[in-house]
Amino acid sequence: MLFAGAARPSVRVWYLPRPVKPLLIACDFDGTITQRDALHVIVERYGERDLWATLAPRVQSGEITVEQAMQEEFAHVRATPQEAQVAVREEAPLRDGFHEFVAWCEDLGHRLVVLSNGFRSIIEPVLAGAGLERLEVVSHDARFGAAGARLVWSDRGPRCDLCNRPCKRQPLRKRWNGERLVYLGDGISDRCASRLADMVFARDGLAEHLRREGVPFVHFDDFHEVRAVLARAVGAGS
Ligand SMILES: [Mg+2]
Ligand SMILES: [Zn+2]
Repeated sequence: MLFAGAARPSVRVWYLPRPVKPLLIACDFDGTITQRDALHVIVERYGERDLWATLAPRVQSGEITVEQAMQEEFAHVRATPQEAQVAVREEAPLRDGFHEFVAWCEDLGHRLVVLSNGFRSIIEPVLAGAGLERLEVVSHDARFGAAGARLVWSDRGPRCDLCNRPCKRQPLRKRWNGERLVYLGDGISDRCASRLADMVFARDGLAEHLRREGVPFVHFDDFHEVRAVLARAVGAGS
């Protein structure tokens, strides 16, 4: 035998992974982390489905703001917080691979922030139900009740320099410490914030918008794809 009677030479393998600079990853909730927009699900089940059709033209003409339209819509939503949460769990489940994506971010020290125009009273229980209550959530809020829901808008600071409205761009800027920035989203509320990012993952309306504007993005269907693309981009195993 090759090493009979002698101590086996010890073989040391020194493995130094390429250091990965932490990213700031900002991720929309409705229709991005979830497979469907949680707010649509709640309005469909407990509100007046056709009300938005009469509100949208008033928003477009400038008669009322988006926030006023949403308040009007949710004033007709008669549900307890628990009923609203159950509707979202049943009809807007988390997109595939989100758990694994969170674990990957945590392993490599990337900071993941949920940046939503939706409501804390929905987002936090949904994340907690999935064992992800530790994620940072930036959002508005809603008080659900039998007499209708009342929306509580968080202060988003000065108006956005792109859309001239209180949008996600300002809270994202506030959290940015010079890291490379990744943004994931699907809708109108993601447009301005996504323009701050070094790399954008988009689907649905946001993808169509960025395509029209000629802004590069990566289309995604689930978070396994996001993790694989990001792992290649930052040089860390997926
Ligand atoms: Mg969305
Ligand atoms: Zn904006």
